[in-house]
Amino acid sequence: MIIQLSFGIRALTTQFDLNNKHNIASGLEEVLQIGTPTAITDQILILFVDGMRYDKMLEANTPNMDALMANGTTFSNYHSVLPSYSRVNYAAFSTGSTTNMTNVFANGYDEELEIPTLYSIIDSNDYNKSLIVDEGGWAKFLGKDADVAVFVDTISHSYEEGLDVKNAAIATIPGNFSNIQLIGFDDVDAVGHDFGAASTTYKQMIEITDSYIGEILDLYNSLGQLDNTTIVLFSDHGHEDIGGHGGEAFNQTNGCFILAGKGVTNKGIISDKLTRINSITPTLLTMLGIPLAPTMNGQVLLDFIDSSVQTKAIYAIQQAEIMNQQFVATINEFGILSSKTKLPYLAGSELVANNITLAKGNYSITQYLSSYNIALSSEKSARLYFSLLLIQMKSLSELFRTLLIIGIVTIVSASIFYLRRRRIIEVAHQEVFSKDQLLPQILGMLTAISFCILIAASFGFKFAATSFNSTNQTVPPILTAFFVSGTLAIFIPWLAIYLLKRKSVKFRTFKEWNGMFLKSTIGSMFFITLPIFGYVVYYIAQFGPWPSWIIPPLADTYAFWIIGIMPCILYIIPLILMLVLWKYEKKEKAQLAS
Ligand SMILES: [Zn+2]
Repeated sequence: MIIQLSFGIRALTTQFDLNNKHNIASGLEEVLQIGTPTAITDQILILFVDGMRYDKMLEANTPNMDALMANGTTFSNYHSVLPSYSRVNYAAFSTGSTTNMTNVFANGYDEELEIPTLYSIIDSNDYNKSLIVDEGGWAKFLGKDADVAVFVDTISHSYEEGLDVKNAAIATIPGNFSNIQLIGFDDVDAVGHDFGAASTTYKQMIEITDSYIGEILDLYNSLGQLDNTTIVLFSDHGHEDIGGHGGEAFNQTNGCFILAGKGVTNKGIISDKLTRINSITPTLLTMLGIPLAPTMNGQVLLDFIDSSVQTKAIYAIQQAEIMNQQFVATINEFGILSSKTKLPYLAGSELVANNITLAKGNYSITQYLSSYNIALSSEKSARLYFSLLLIQMKSLSELFRTLLIIGIVTIVSASIFYLRRRRIIEVAHQEVFSKDQLLPQILGMLTAISFCILIAASFGFKFAATSFNSTNQTVPPILTAFFVSGTLAIFIPWLAIYLLKRKSVKFRTFKEWNGMFLKSTIGSMFFITLPIFGYVVYYIAQFGPWPSWIIPPLADTYAFWIIGIMPCILYIIPLILMLVLWKYEKKEKAQLAS
């Protein structure tokens, strides 16, 4: 019971972390650029392949992606932002920011973003026109600001979405050619969820998607636009061998990112540069010569584009100022830190500010290279201080979480001890499995197991990620079934005992009943716990020990309800109920006695 309860508390406190998002976006001010940058491209084709893992793309036979790689820079150490869910990363791409800016932490999120996106920024720069074609995944984040938006209406997981998107793109692009065009393919992710990244189906779907990409590139070629265009191919996350993503594991976060075509330098595979999905949009804006938004925190990949040193200095200075502003806002947001703890961080931000002034000074006397280098190192320092601050906050919140779990488990244990001492709970363990109890217990267990099977059957016995959650690594539906069943395992025996014994036993007070109730609950919980523990052992063997095998650091809302709320209903509510009833009876008896 205590183990299960601690799972629940961990989920609850994780959700508490999620709600405590330290959103600083609204307080940020526009950071003006020191000069006017020069654009190195005015046309970008964005090819998005949902859920394509990098090593599997290399393994697959993909002549078109290979051609892009040969003509551009491939970032092999490219990753999602965490948690590695699709919506979270769609938002991170759209805004060039992490979750603390986007507020998108889970897959269920389907509202418009409140901060600037690639398309909303382009929309306000009137010389650019934008187009989007996909199955609707980008509709709310980018589609609303697109000048042309086509969302195909194909059944999800039909593996036909890519084909329909490709056909729609080929039909739409020639008459609506836009500066920025995004074409999104979804089938690789669907296959990843249904069959896993180790399957041949996954590889085949990458190959099919490659052929669609080939047709789009052919269209660009026939329109005479291929050489004028910067091309980005990227995915939002990878997939486990058995399918699923959302966590921190390398295979879940390692997607594909190729930057090719006009304005791209450093061709080849870059493995020593860690890049994340939120870097893409700031880099594209830099190539277009459009200023960055103050909410962006993805690093502009200045070393890999063809801008002049002067333009690079402009962006390096703007980025350093943006990072420093976000850093200072975050220090102030963490009210939990004492002012003494904040001092070294504030000193760090002051140092960065001084260096930015230096970089600006050098820029104004046309010392662009030195200005660029100083700004780059200032931005690096701001990021370093920033990450130290976040690490300190993370360790603090881990500590609080642990204390909270220990505290609540202690209170529950002490309550049980107290109830036994006061003889409110009267259970002799040799009676738990008595003949008397067997029928209600078996009823409880059978209801619970039937419910498990019902859940399984309603999803075709396939506990795939798509059934409940975007990842079967984090919140397996089978665990859900166990938790829901656990509730039934408590209350069905109570009902059974009441119905069976109502006439034969002349129990009158709850206290008299409660011995029977508890015995049945303990018995049926014992039975239902056996398969749960079997599953937990299997899970540890498969995915490693506590804590990552229960929920990811940032959990889904779904995980919160099931793992968090369920155990609390299971254990805390019956305990409170018993206490209330006992008090009530005591009062009643006292009244009778007087
Ligand atoms: Zn995805």
